[in-house]
This record gives sequence, C-alpha cells and structure tokens, in this order.
Amino acid sequence: MKESVSHIQGVGPRAVEQLEVMGISTVEQLLEHFPFRYEDYAIRPIMEVQHDERVTVRGKVHSEPTLRYYGKNKARLTVRVLVDGLLVQAIFFNQGYLKNQIHLGDVITINGKFDRNRLMISGGTMKTSNQEVTGGLEPVYSVKGSIKITTLRKYIRQAFEQFGDQIGEILPHQLLSAYRLLNRRETLEQLHFPTDTVQLKQAKRRMIYEELLFFQLKMQMFRKLERQGEKGQQKRFNKEDLLVFMDKLPFELTGAQKQALKEILSDLTADHRMNRLLQGDVGSGKTIVAGIALYVNAKAGFQGALMVPTEILAEQHKASLKELLEPFGLRVELLSGSAKAKERREILGALKEGSVDVLIGTHALIQDGVDFHHLGLVITDEQHRFGVEQRRILRNKGLRPDVLFMTATPIPRTLAISVFGDMDVSIINEMPKGRKPVDTRWAKHDMLPRVIEFLKRELGKGHQAYVICPLIEESDKLDVQNAIDVHHQLTQVFPEFTVGLMHGRLSSDEKDCVMNEFAKNNVHILVSTTVVEVGVNVPNATVMVIYDAERFGLAQLHQLRGRVGRGQAQSYCILLADPKSDVGKERMQIMTDTNDGFELSERDLELRGPGEFFGSRQSGLPNFKVADIVEDFRVLEVARQDAAKLVNSEAFWKSNDYEKLRKKLEEQGVFQDQKLD
Ligand code: ADP
Ligand code: MG
Repeated sequence: MKESVSHIQGVGPRAVEQLEVMGISTVEQLLEHFPFRYEDYAIRPIMEVQHDERVTVRGKVHSEPTLRYYGKNKARLTVRVLVDGLLVQAIFFNQGYLKNQIHLGDVITINGKFDRNRLMISGGTMKTSNQEVTGGLEPVYSVKGSIKITTLRKYIRQAFEQFGDQIGEILPHQLLSAYRLLNRRETLEQLHFPTDTVQLKQAKRRMIYEELLFFQLKMQMFRKLERQGEKGQQKRFNKEDLLVFMDKLPFELTGAQKQALKEILSDLTADHRMNRLLQGDVGSGKTIVAGIALYVNAKAGFQGALMVPTEILAEQHKASLKELLEPFGLRVELLSGSAKAKERREILGALKEGSVDVLIGTHALIQDGVDFHHLGLVITDEQHRFGVEQRRILRNKGLRPDVLFMTATPIPRTLAISVFGDMDVSIINEMPKGRKPVDTRWAKHDMLPRVIEFLKRELGKGHQAYVICPLIEESDKLDVQNAIDVHHQLTQVFPEFTVGLMHGRLSSDEKDCVMNEFAKNNVHILVSTTVVEVGVNVPNATVMVIYDAERFGLAQLHQLRGRVGRGQAQSYCILLADPKSDVGKERMQIMTDTNDGFELSERDLELRGPGEFFGSRQSGLPNFKVADIVEDFRVLEVARQDAAKLVNSEAFWKSNDYEKLRKKLEEQGVFQDQKLD
C-alpha cells in the first residue's frame, strides 16, 4: 500500500507526475482519495422529480441539437427531449462534442438539475443508448491539474485489482461489531464503486466514524502526552474554608454553576495543568465561578490573574471581585492602562513580592515588567478577544499556571470539542432563578416613532436604555459619526432625559466616565457603537434598541441583547431592521424566537456553516474527506467518547490488537502534531 503509484498497471511516468500534482504518490493515497459526490444514474420517472433536484431521465431526441459559443471558449448545447410524454429542454455546457452524438429520434439518457418551472435539465451530461448506462451511482472526484476524472477512475479501478487484498482493517474489532461497520476494504470499494445507495451509505457511515475517531484520538493522545510531560501545580486548600466562603455568597449557585465549579476545582487540585473553556450564556453567572476559583487558588498560596478585553470590564470585575474576596483578606488590584506611574509601581512591587492575590487588567497585564511572585491561575474573560500569543506570554510568566478561558459566545458543544479539542469544556446552560427572558421585537425602521414612544414610557418608569448605532461596513470612522448623529437626534427628542454617547474613539478615561454615569443612572440613554457589547452590567437598563440589526451576526446581536434583562423588571430588545436577504430575515426571526444562546448558536451554525461561524480562516476546523462536523456531530460525540476510552486504556498503548491503529496514527504525525492553542 505504501508502494509508488507507478506500480499500478497503466500508470506511466506522466501519470505519476499528474498524480503527484494532486498530492498522490502512493497506492494508499490514491485509494484514500474519495469521490466528493456521486452522480445518480438511476433513471426515474420525471413526474416524481422535485424542482432543483439532480436527476437522470431517459427520453427521445425531439429536435436537432443547437450549439452556441459565448464568452471565451464557452459552449452551450441545447436539445429538446421527450421524456415520459413531457417535452424537456436539455442544456449541456462545454460539451460541444456531444452534438455529433445526438440524432433526431435517438433514445438518450440525460442527467442534470431539473428546473420544474421551465422544464429544463441543465448542468449535467448525457449518454447515448449505445453507451453503458450503469443504472447506478457514478463517483465524481475532485481533480487538480491535467488529469481527467475518467482516467483517475481507471487508475483507482486498477489499483483495486492489484492491491485490494492488502487493504487491512485498522479499527479494533469490538468497535466494528458494536457499530456494525463495514470492514475497511469493503468501505473503500463501496466509496469508489458503490453498488447501490444503501451500500454507499454504509461505507460513508464507516468512513465518517473512522475519520472522526482518528481526529479525536489524535487530539486526546496529544493531550495525554502533554500532560505526562508537563505537570502543573497541585493546589491544596482547606475544604472548610471553601464552605465558609460559599456560605457567604449573596445567592445560591445554580446547578450548572456548581457543576462547572466542581470540574474546575478538580482540575486545580489535580497535578495536571488545567486547560479549560468555561462557556455560559450572557448573564449565566460566570464571574462568580471565576471568583471562587480565584479564592481557592489564593488559599492554596498562589496568585491569580484575570484578563479582560476592555477597561470598562476590568473596572467592573474589580468592583465585584473586591466585594467578594476582600472580606476574606485577599488583595485584589487592577492594573489599568491609565494608572498613574506611582500607583502602578506600587502595584507591581506588591505583585512581585506576592502580596497581591488577584490582579485584573486588560492587555496591560502581559507587558514587560509585570512579574508575579507565584502565578497559579490565569483566567481570561471573553477569550476570543485575545490572541493566542498574548495568552501564551501570560502563561509563561508563571509556573505553568492553570488556565481557564471564559466565553459568552455560545459555541455548540460539538464544535467546542472539535475546535478547542485540546481543552476541556464546562458549560453553564442554566440561568439564575427569577430571570425574565428579554422580550425581543423586530421592527422596520419606519416604525421608529413608535419605538421612541415606547422608550419614553420605559424611561418614565425610571429605567434606562441602550441605543446601539448603525454599523457601517468596516469603517470605525463612519460608525462614530453615526453614533454622534443618533446621539444628537435623541438629545432633541428626549429633552427631559440625559443622553450619553460612547464610542471607540473616546479615551479610556472618557469611556469610564460615561459608563460610570450610566451605571449611576445619571445618564438615562446610552447611545453607543458596539463597544458596550461585552460584559457590561447595569441592571436598571431595560431596553436595548439596535439600529440596522441585520448588519450584525446572531452571536453579536445576542451579546448586545445580554446587556438588558439583568434586573427584576421585564426587559426589551428592539431590532430595527429591514433585511433584504432571506438569511437576514431568518436571523431576525431566530432572535425573536429564542433567548437561549446555545439554541441560537446551533441555528446560526445551520444558517451559515462552521466556517462563517468562526470567521472563515481561523476556524481551526480540520478538513475531513467524508465527515462533516456539523452534520455528523452525533458521530463526533460518540467518537470522542470512544477515543477517550481507548486513550485511557492500557491495551491501546501496548496491545497487539491496536498495533495497526497506532501505526496509522503515527503515520499521521500524532506525535509532532501542532497544538491548537
Ligand atoms: P456573565 O456570565 O455574563 O459574566 P455575570 O457573572 O456578570 O454573568 O452574572 C450576571 C449577574 O447574575 C450578576 O449580577 C451576578 O451577581 C448574578 N448571578 C450570578 N449567579 C447567580 C445566581 N446563582 N443566582 C442569582 N444571581 C446570580
Ligand atoms: Mg461576564
């Protein structure tokens, strides 16, 4: 199987080169180059065919074919065919040579996409009655360079003849029988030469499982090896202390918070380094969980760092953590970018000598000259805002500190475990008791007057409101101008209230000032660009108005909505939007349908796909040949569990039964694989 493709009969030096271009040099690689789709040549009655469906039908040629050239070297061949009593127009692109094969009165088989309204079949190809019609599925391969699909198919066929017997099983027997999977040889054969759709489905099922299992095995083996090589610090603390501390909390933790906390504490006390993602919807109460972890860490004699994306958020965390931790004798400090030199020096000194227990800050935390005495735990809030590099630098400042990433971007669990595959994931999927879901409405912009009336009523009750301004393309400058304009208008509409303005061009002092005034209810309406998106907590605010809501992604809209609904009163989110596209409309619909960030992210994912969800480039999703992370997420979960069992069993590492599997993993570079983070 590791032989060069040149050992396949009919593959000469030129073919070797052609295959090389496609990244195929061994027989094994050729046999593992799977079709990306199948042309279904099973002939069906045209009456059964749906609009836009791909189909194969048979009919009698009813007109002379006409060939038109257009553009540069483009050809379009049109012919009318009588199919099951229906006159259908068949259109073939760039297959001018077909013209001589089509004659009036001939019976031909055509395939392509069926347009029911215009009775047209296009984008496929055709066969005459002399040509073999397989009546089945024909694999379509992706090709690069000069090689033709038909040639490739021929090589694969030949490779099977010569080497098919050498395709050995690599999956352990008990998995094969537990899931009734086809063996590997049959699988490859069916993928290339399916006998029928049922068999093909079985082959795909097996290959999807294999791919996902391998993916998970690699990830988990990597993590295991890393853990063996890199011990973290074991945190010892007095359980009594923790109970006393928990007893003093102003509320009882939700079940989900307790579960997440349990997982985190178990990491802290274990001797491996924690690498955990804590996901929880906005307002689900991640901060308190982080606070408890910081408390335990400090009690065990270590310092903790909390890194946040904005100064506003840093201030807020400082206030809440001071309140939480200082009564227990811990020292909490904020290293602000705008701190005076003297104050800064003092904090840094105390940090180095170990008397600061918890340090909060933005990127300023990772500057040179910030030295910890004994850093044991690093927590980042809204981790997606931090670059990999920044996290690494901070981590390196300490003695392999435990690391906790918190995010309110609800990532479907399935994606979380694949994208952050080398991290453990804890999820807070439960809101504190008594929260009222935010009442979300979608309004067209021409309903603005009514929205203003509504705002007046809410403000009249003593509540506050956010107004998020149009986001214009990627231009920060225009965003600011828009916020300024809207601020101006609202100031005139609401003379009896104070309207504040917040945008990214303000200095951090100015931002803090506006935010503080809003928090103190001296500002009643806060007009802002999306800088308030993350973390801000003003429970008296009950209305969130978002202009041009269709320009935001669902995740971002949900974040914004999370700024309200934090107090006792009913809150509202008003989406001003005139979406043109169906996707835009769908988004507004989803927002009004659900308040649950996880459900929303699942639907967003369906709507846009994983690449979009994470931003196309940095998605970090591996490329699978057959599997599809979104569609096959159930298999992924099964594979993850199976991989965990394997990796934690002795047999997997030692027994002969797993030798083939280990070998295959080794070939795929498990031991030098790149880490995701
Ligand atoms: P997020 O997960 O978005 O960071 P926060 O940690 O800011 O959420 O919590 C939102 C609010 O909920 C805070 O005011 C916090 O004090 C409160 N809170 C957190 N946990 C609970 C709970 N178990 N019961 C009641 N209120 C809670
Ligand atoms: Mg938060």
